[in-house]
Amino acid sequence: MTQTLSPLELMSKLISFPTVSCDSNLPLIDWVEAYLNGHGITGHRFYDDKDGRLVEKAALFAHVGPEVEGGIVLSGHTDVVPIEGQPWDTDPWTVTEKDGKYYGRGTCDMKGFDGLAIWALVEAHKRGVKRPLQIALSFDEEVGCTGAPPMIERILQTLPKASTVIVGEPSMMQAVTGHKGGRGYLTHIKGFEVHSSILHTGVNAIMYGAKLIEWANDVNTANLAATPSDIAAPFFPPCTTAHVGMITGGTAHNITAKDCIFGMDFRVVPGEDPLMWRDRYMEKVREVEAMMQTVVPETRIEISEKFNVPPLVPEDGGEAETLVRQITGDNASHKVSYGTEAGQFQQRGYSAVICGPGDIAQAHQPNEFCTVAQFNAGHAFMEKLLERLA
Ligand SMILES: [Zn+2]
Repeated sequence: MTQTLSPLELMSKLISFPTVSCDSNLPLIDWVEAYLNGHGITGHRFYDDKDGRLVEKAALFAHVGPEVEGGIVLSGHTDVVPIEGQPWDTDPWTVTEKDGKYYGRGTCDMKGFDGLAIWALVEAHKRGVKRPLQIALSFDEEVGCTGAPPMIERILQTLPKASTVIVGEPSMMQAVTGHKGGRGYLTHIKGFEVHSSILHTGVNAIMYGAKLIEWANDVNTANLAATPSDIAAPFFPPCTTAHVGMITGGTAHNITAKDCIFGMDFRVVPGEDPLMWRDRYMEKVREVEAMMQTVVPETRIEISEKFNVPPLVPEDGGEAETLVRQITGDNASHKVSYGTEAGQFQQRGYSAVICGPGDIAQAHQPNEFCTVAQFNAGHAFMEKLLERLA
């Protein structure tokens, strides 16, 4: 029989695995599966089979309690964002307690919750429950929530279907019932190189790219000035936004740039069709491309979808929200503008809510932390959840 670890010991163990999204998470998955097995719980793996993968990754899910439908899923991701270039005062891969806070990469986003979920699963198995409890630990959340959808399909094929999902992204243990959707489009402008002294005969990919970026600025200005719809009003900001966060291109200051590559990302409020934003962007892309082709016909703009995260649509009196409200006593309405796996579970027929320890403001930061108080609140939440399942 494996020794039973506390939630803090479990979080510390998980954080000791540097599972940055670009690296394999298998050492962590191996450890968690062995820990669950040691307590008599069967773990199921879903292996990533994306083409061209250089590193292997897996999701892990498990079910305890009666083999019936209608259980609750505790959902977390195992990957974390990189620490490169961040000034850390402590070792990011060791949980350090200081001034009432636990420091470490993932304490807040979201190995603190993962540790609590593993703890709750083992307790549910030991104590025995009437309603099933499941955990789902995914990969590749931080690179556009691409790991969860195939994992969810596999869970639906493997386990009795649960009805409710609690996604433990940091929410200060409040029930978050809605988030924006995300759509990202890799934009590659293929221009034509000439000496910049005769630039009118070339196509500068960067300068044409600027027209698309300026379009995004105009979209934001118009959307921020517009009166929000009822469903969009609780979000901050209460509208869809367009963003370019990275750009590369050009070879020299005196050559018209042959290439310009950037991501055009939309955060779309529930109630608006993300494809409408794609279509509007494509319309602008074709307009700019036509301008380029009047100079050099072979030039073009290629667009490919980088990520697609569905929104979490607020459920009126939804099961997940009701459950979390009953446990936390929090009756306020909370919406967030970041994407999570909750919308992906909801899309597959689960009632979904976000509730986890820590503040999203600390996620991805150097010296990421979760306060001891928040972590303890997460522990208390799991205790109350177990009472309800008994
Ligand atoms: Zn996260």
